[in-house]
Amino acid sequence: MPQLRPKSQSRDVKIAVIGNNTVGKTSLSLRFIYGDFHPGYFHTRGGDIYLKQIKVHDQTVNLKLVDTAGHPYQRSLIGPLYKDADGVIILYDVTSEKSFNALDDWIIAAQENNCREVVLVGNKLDLCKDSKKQEEVTNELKLIADRHNLRHYLVSAKTNLNVNRPFNRLLREVLQRQAAEQARALIKDKEEVHQLQTTEKQVSGCFDCIMS
Ligand code: GDP
Repeated sequence: MPQLRPKSQSRDVKIAVIGNNTVGKTSLSLRFIYGDFHPGYFHTRGGDIYLKQIKVHDQTVNLKLVDTAGHPYQRSLIGPLYKDADGVIILYDVTSEKSFNALDDWIIAAQENNCREVVLVGNKLDLCKDSKKQEEVTNELKLIADRHNLRHYLVSAKTNLNVNRPFNRLLREVLQRQAAEQARALIKDKEEVHQLQTTEKQVSGCFDCIMS
């Protein structure tokens, strides 16, 4: 029977970063995990997995972060890597229209792979120097996020702008959902035990009737 875990017990959370090639998935993952930025393109074959233990409020989380490859020829292969992820970051590059136009396909892929919490994130904001361009980028991201009812963020893995925000948001939502699911399972179990006890009483009552 599932027990309500004490808050101090750690939880396992799997988060994946998906999106087109060169949008900065590896840079974002490394920035979040190690806190630094290494310029240059990292060739991700299939997927890389990073493990990190972090605290979310008073809860210890064993985070498994999956950084996936984004080449079109690899897309069908990487699905199993982020299938059933608790949370997924769909990343695009704010200077690449092609990566922005691919967001709809990635959203569908996340749904098909049963990813539970999804956020849209635009990376490389440091390359949008003027405020007019930044406003344009913000508006177009908001439009697609609203259409799909998803949260959205603009970040820079290079300058570390806002990098923690989508991760923290996902982690909080995943923990809340896990706690709610656990509570529901406990209630269901209690109901089943109660039902069983009631049935047992009825059966033993009938048995007493027969015997007397
Ligand atoms: P991936 O293929 O999606 O994993 O992309 P990478 O992390 O390998 O990054 C592709 C290129 O974009 C590399 O040259 C990175 O240095 C660069 N890059 C990644 N994030 C940023 C960012 O926030 N700002 C800038 N200016 N460049 C970035």
